[in-house]
Amino acid sequence: MSRNDKGSLVRPDPLPESASRPVATPLSPSVVYASDTPDALDDQYEGRVQGYTYSREGHPNANVVARRLDAMEGASGGVVTGSGMGAVTAALMGLLSAGDHVIGGSQLYGRSLRLMTEDLPRLGIATTLAESGDIAAMTAAVRPETRMILVEVVSNPALNVADIQGLAALCRERDILLAVDNTFTTPRAFRPLEHGADIVLHSITKLLAGHSDVMLGYAVARNPEQSDRMRVFSVTTGLTPSPFDCWLAERGMLSFDLRFDRAQASAALLADHVATLPGVKRVLYPTRADHPDHARAMALLNGQGCNMVSFELDGGRAAANAFTRAADGLSFAPTLGDVGTTLSHPASSSHRALSAKDRASRGLTEGFFRVSVGLEDPDMLKRIFTQAIAEATGT
Ligand SMILES: *Cc1c(COP(=O)(O)O)cnc(C)c1O
Repeated sequence: MSRNDKGSLVRPDPLPESASRPVATPLSPSVVYASDTPDALDDQYEGRVQGYTYSREGHPNANVVARRLDAMEGASGGVVTGSGMGAVTAALMGLLSAGDHVIGGSQLYGRSLRLMTEDLPRLGIATTLAESGDIAAMTAAVRPETRMILVEVVSNPALNVADIQGLAALCRERDILLAVDNTFTTPRAFRPLEHGADIVLHSITKLLAGHSDVMLGYAVARNPEQSDRMRVFSVTTGLTPSPFDCWLAERGMLSFDLRFDRAQASAALLADHVATLPGVKRVLYPTRADHPDHARAMALLNGQGCNMVSFELDGGRAAANAFTRAADGLSFAPTLGDVGTTLSHPASSSHRALSAKDRASRGLTEGFFRVSVGLEDPDMLKRIFTQAIAEATGT
């Protein structure tokens, strides 16, 4: 063994120095960070210097993603969580206490609904669901102990648009936190803090990361003390994201604006095209004049309709089966925001727990599909839909 060789079981010295720096963010999987002295560690814990200690408490790759999303949302001090549900949980359980009451939009993401109806009540937090677009119903649901209202801007799968303006006024008047899950809309189409929201939540898993290969979430509050409470709750309960997922998400987010613009433009074209096809009963897209919330969508989303299109086929389950089989090149998969177009069928997936009658009352028949439009050539998408719908409905 030479004098400088310490053997293979000893950690290497710090990386060799370089006058130049990497262009891509380095991946930092280290769980622990070494400090020079106890004094240096004190400085760090007391916030006098910035540094990492243990990766559940924070790490460089999570910080890069958090700061990027902060900038996109016009926020600061947001926390990245291991999934979108981690972010929803950090807001509800990190900020509310037993005895509080929270109102959720009745068309929230399925697991958010479950948290509201099963887990929060078990922990002593009362919940009520109301239509996010019906300000009278929301107002009627408010109690003296109501602390938060949680809604999505554009809901799944009917693409209803929340009355954010009305909710913001209600929340201001009654001293309630307005939490907005901005996953579908993304800060490219809508920035909740500019419209009176107090808390913004994201599933980064979807459009922001955009490649269906990482699961992450983000939560931020207008009030730094509330952001900090969500961060501390995440650290304590282990909602922390993995460095590799954050690294992948950052890579995806670098092309987010281009992907979103392309997918949204194609979605608008596809919605108008599908509406002309025989065998299609109706098409739902927020910027179309025939969408029930058209006026609100135009006012809130600045003429943007996002990348989701829903439509209803004639012919029930048999036509639905034939359609997914015939839709060559499109994945029938329960997600959204991927580079590729994906199809979801609420009756057999997100809304399968409802009775057929409850589904029917929401218009979610066996022929109902939600499409997350991807980055393919829009003319090719039109051709695929034309052919698959013709095949499925015998038109
Ligand atoms: C997917 C989704 C979530 C949950 O995110 P995960 O990353 O899957 O945990 C929350 N809200 C909305 C609107 C979603 O689409």
